[in-house]
Amino acid sequence: MKKSLLLATVTALLLTGCGKDQDVLVVGTNAAFPPFEYMGGANGDEVKGLDIDIAKAIAADAGKTLKVENLKFDSLIVALNSGKIDFIASGMTITDERQKSVNFSTPYYEATQVVIVNQDSQVFTTPADLAGKKIAVQLGSTGDIMAKELKAEVVAFNTGFEAFMELKNHKVDLVLFDSQPAATYLAKNPTLKQLDIEFSPEFYGIAVAKDQPELLGQINATLSRLQSSGEYQQLLEKYQK
Ligand code: GLN
Repeated sequence: MKKSLLLATVTALLLTGCGKDQDVLVVGTNAAFPPFEYMGGANGDEVKGLDIDIAKAIAADAGKTLKVENLKFDSLIVALNSGKIDFIASGMTITDERQKSVNFSTPYYEATQVVIVNQDSQVFTTPADLAGKKIAVQLGSTGDIMAKELKAEVVAFNTGFEAFMELKNHKVDLVLFDSQPAATYLAKNPTLKQLDIEFSPEFYGIAVAKDQPELLGQINATLSRLQSSGEYQQLLEKYQK
């Protein structure tokens, strides 16, 4: 009798331990991609940014509390598919390859890759000029994928910040990174400049596990509500200063 009671208690504890809090939505992000996600707040220990405000709106519309998990960019999809997080809001570009393992919301931001070099660097004018060059990128990013396609020598870092440090130390020829975060770094680093090379547009989406169509529907509904109410425009203005 006592034994079975103990067994029942242990089982119940294990079940609650494994089960997720139904009132919480967990967003996964990599907080080194300003102004979409970055560390800020009074003590610098708060994840802030455009994606985080969108994630808050998604949670609020679902009547849930938002929890933010700050993870490495290239581990986000694994975390999503293992159930550690409920969705990804991390300036993630919608690509065919990623669509094989996750579903994306409707696109919410148009971006492009840009080339950043040191002020004293030689000038490249076409993507083909980058073949054979040493390029620093963020691991697992579209910049990383493109640099490899350009047949360049690729050095990948966990954050764009580290890629820019490598460039400033003249250890690589250039950084290939998303336009808006690159502009944020550029504004703080006058020894760097952006080159005039055009790449095709990319579109950011919020990623959801394939077996969560209901959550995907909720996320799309929130995105369209933010867009039609003008709140999304206000967020863009707030973060794209
Ligand atoms: N947009 C790029 C990608 O999806 C980079 C995103 C990021 O570094 N957060 O790969």
